[in-house]
Amino acid sequence: MTHVVITGGGSGVGARIAGKVAATGAQVTIMGRREAPLAAQGLPYLVCDVTDAKAVGAAFDAAVEQRGPVTGVVANAGAAHSAPFERTTAQDLSDLMAVNVTGVFNVWQAAVAGMKTAGHGRLVVVASTAGLKGYPYVAGYVAAKHGVVGLTRALALELASTGITVNAICPGFIDTPLLERSVETITAHTGKTSREAREILKRASPQNRFVTTDEVAAAALYLLSDAAGAVNGHTLSLSGGEI
Ligand code: NAP
Repeated sequence: MTHVVITGGGSGVGARIAGKVAATGAQVTIMGRREAPLAAQGLPYLVCDVTDAKAVGAAFDAAVEQRGPVTGVVANAGAAHSAPFERTTAQDLSDLMAVNVTGVFNVWQAAVAGMKTAGHGRLVVVASTAGLKGYPYVAGYVAAKHGVVGLTRALALELASTGITVNAICPGFIDTPLLERSVETITAHTGKTSREAREILKRASPQNRFVTTDEVAAAALYLLSDAAGAVNGHTLSLSGGEI
């Protein structure tokens, strides 16, 4: 039986991926820091901060105990912070690296031993187009997402002979609570309306629209599938041709 752990499964992209994976009949465990949004999904969950390696290890032990060996991980938990470079602090950078890079490192590390024993596994990260190109006013986020793309590429090669694949999904802007916080920052600092800010962000895509959570979930389902066995170390851009 397939058992997929999805981090950040209480909201936005992670909630949609979790719903779609559960609909295939797979076992699902969602993780995040706040209990209320996790519980609201109606799926098995464990409260866990992915930046805390010990907590991640304990959560994976509990997930395996409750629903069997973990066969897939979608490391989706992440956070963004926008500010001009000179107002970005070293602590901001450290916080972004902690969730977007170390958090992925921790959940993948908790899963690899069991997958090696099984001779099969699927590690997926929801990175970003910000892992493939730069954007202004999000230097820390771009650095962190480039970092996690590097982690993906390195681990894919290291595990290539084990039956485990490691891939990154790189979406452009998606309409989620994270995007809403970016819109609030833009409106607070530019005087633009929320609608104007959203139109500016949409224009990053040649399709002049946001990526949908369904589109990200479909990519995750594919990368988790047996059919994607030859896809390894890949960065799948979902950006309407932006990159
Ligand atoms: P979101 O709704 O804010 O989702 C982020 C999730 O991560 C939340 O459920 C949050 O839950 C969880 N999380 C944050 N820090 C965590 C931690 N330390 N430990 C465990 N869970 C943590 O935003 P989203 O847009 O769906 O983001 C999902 C992923 O997509 C992120 O990696 C983001 O970088 C990426 N992405 C988003 C966009 C976009 O435009 N929205 C574009 C490209 C890529 P708690 O706060 O309860 O922990």
